[in-house]
Amino acid sequence: MSLPLSPFRVLRPRDVEAALAARRDHSASRFLAGGTDLIVNLRRGIGNPGVLIDLNGIEELGGLTCSERGARIGTGVTLATLAADAAIRRHFAAVSEAAVAIAGAGHRNIATVGGNLCLDTRCIYYNQSEWWRRTNHYCLKAGGDTCHVAPQGQRCHAAFSGDLAPALLVFGAEIEIAGSAGRRRAPLADLYVEDGRAHLRLADDELVIAVHLPPNPARSAYAKCRVRRAMDFPLAGVAVALRADAGKLATLRVALTGTNSRPFLLEGTDALSGRPFDEAAAQQLEKLVQKQVQPMRTTLASSNYRRLVAAALARRLTTALTAEATASR
Ligand code: SF4
Repeated sequence: MSLPLSPFRVLRPRDVEAALAARRDHSASRFLAGGTDLIVNLRRGIGNPGVLIDLNGIEELGGLTCSERGARIGTGVTLATLAADAAIRRHFAAVSEAAVAIAGAGHRNIATVGGNLCLDTRCIYYNQSEWWRRTNHYCLKAGGDTCHVAPQGQRCHAAFSGDLAPALLVFGAEIEIAGSAGRRRAPLADLYVEDGRAHLRLADDELVIAVHLPPNPARSAYAKCRVRRAMDFPLAGVAVALRADAGKLATLRVALTGTNSRPFLLEGTDALSGRPFDEAAAQQLEKLVQKQVQPMRTTLASSNYRRLVAAALARRLTTALTAEATASR
C-alpha cells in the first residue's frame, strides 16, 4: 500500500554546476532522473527529501557517442536510448542486453543510466510500505536496530540489483564524477561498497555524469534470472566478456549483480585463460562464482538457488560466447 507523497519542491537546474549548488544548499535533497525507483520508495515513506533536484534539463548528461574507439555514455541517457543504439549493440553487446532487460518498456523510456548505476539496494524487509515496516519495527537499513535477514549481525545485506553495472564492469568502465572539488574519473568498480546501507562511494555533493568505455575486442553477453520474465529485478545477473580462439579462452571477465550489496568483477578468471573451456574449466568457473557471491535472504528466492543460478548463468554465457568466437574464425 502506498502513501500520498509528502510535499516536496522540485528544482530544475540547467547545468551540472547549478545542480551541485542546489544539492549543497539543500542537504536532505535528492537528485531525480527517471524517478522509477526513487518515487516508488518515496510513496512507501522511504525518505522524505523535501527538495528534488530534477536533472532532466541538463543537456550535458544526455550525450551518447560510441565507435570502435570506445564509448562515452552520459548518465542522463535513457535505458531505451541505450538499448536501441546500434553502435553500443555492435561493440558492447552486454550493455545493450542489460539495458533491454531492465524493467518494462515504459520504465526504460524515462529511467536513466545514472539512475540504474546508483540504484538503491533492495530487500524484502525494506521495499515495503511504511505500515508494514513499522509493524515489523523497521530494520537496520532505516529506522530500526535489527537486521531481519541476519539478526545476529550489525550489517545490512540488501542486494544491489542494477543490471547495467556488471555489463559495464566487464569492459573496465570508468565513471566521470562532478563535485565541489571539480571533476574526476574513477574505475566504476570503485563506486561500490559491500554495505547495503551505504553502497555508493560518493560524497553528498557529487554526481556521476558519464561512463567511459575503452575500445573493446571481446565478445560479450548479459543474462539475468528473475521471478517475472516480463519485468523484474535480477535474483542474479551475470555479464561475461571474453576473447577465444580455436576453443581456447584468451581472456575472460565475469561480473555479477543481484547477489551482493555491490556489483563486482569475479576474481580468479585469469586462471582459465589459455585453456579450452571444457567441463573442468566450466566447473572451475562455477566454483569461483559460488565462492564469491553472497546471496542472503533478501528476496523471495532462497540464497542457495541464487548462488546456483549465478554459477549456471556464468557457465552458460561463457560456453555460448566461446562457441560463437570459435565458429566465427
Ligand atoms: Fe533491513 Fe537486514 Fe534487509 Fe538490510 S538486509 S534491508 S538491514 S532486513
